[in-house]
Amino acid sequence: TPVNAAEQTYTIGTDVTFPPFEYANKSNKYVGIDIDIMNAIAKAEGFKVNIKPLGFNAAVQSLEANQIDGVIAGMSITPERKAKFAMSNPYYKSGVVGAVKTGSKYHTLNSLRGQRVAVKTGTSAADYVHSIKDKYHLKVVTFDDSNNMYQDVITGNSAACFEDEPVMQYGIATGLSLKIVTKPAKSGYYGIAIAKSHANDLLPKVNAGLKKIKANGTYAKIVRKYLGNGS
Ligand code: GLN
Repeated sequence: TPVNAAEQTYTIGTDVTFPPFEYANKSNKYVGIDIDIMNAIAKAEGFKVNIKPLGFNAAVQSLEANQIDGVIAGMSITPERKAKFAMSNPYYKSGVVGAVKTGSKYHTLNSLRGQRVAVKTGTSAADYVHSIKDKYHLKVVTFDDSNNMYQDVITGNSAACFEDEPVMQYGIATGLSLKIVTKPAKSGYYGIAIAKSHANDLLPKVNAGLKKIKANGTYAKIVRKYLGNGS
């Protein structure tokens, strides 16, 4: 029984280190484009959200186990995910890029042949790398969060990592000693994943809220807040 039918609370899982979409700021508060979008949608549609930074794969697994109601985590809309979850309408375009340490001798995908590369568990970047690993004889190592994956490249353990382009660009702009060396692959859009059990209540609210915040300028304002006017 709902405590208050007008203000239902939904638990939404998210990633831990995925700036500018979700990350802990200097005061250790979770902020980012996804956090603001989710809160703005909830406000527009009259529900409450409890956002849990679980890590990307853990959040997706929790959603699959019906332990949480949704995931907002720069999560790409894919046919596999559409089969498992109720995916919202698209909200942000992305693709997968490879990045190496600044000053590295690797400048192309081809030059990475035979090397060790780092990916994050359960991501479209990991899927992409698994799809090319035989062709390029890559040794793939996996990490649970993006920051540990970047550090593996910066310390020289891996020759490259594969990450979503807007996240890699933001990380480099804010100080990571990495450089993008491949063109975006697997381009597509981010969506909010909702448990299928909420396909008839939360999903329509999320889509309606997304439409409202795009129409009234809130969405653009959120993106500008994190990416500036050049976005
Ligand atoms: N967009 C990628 C995916 O959906 C990565 C998401 C993430 O790392 N938070 O798999």
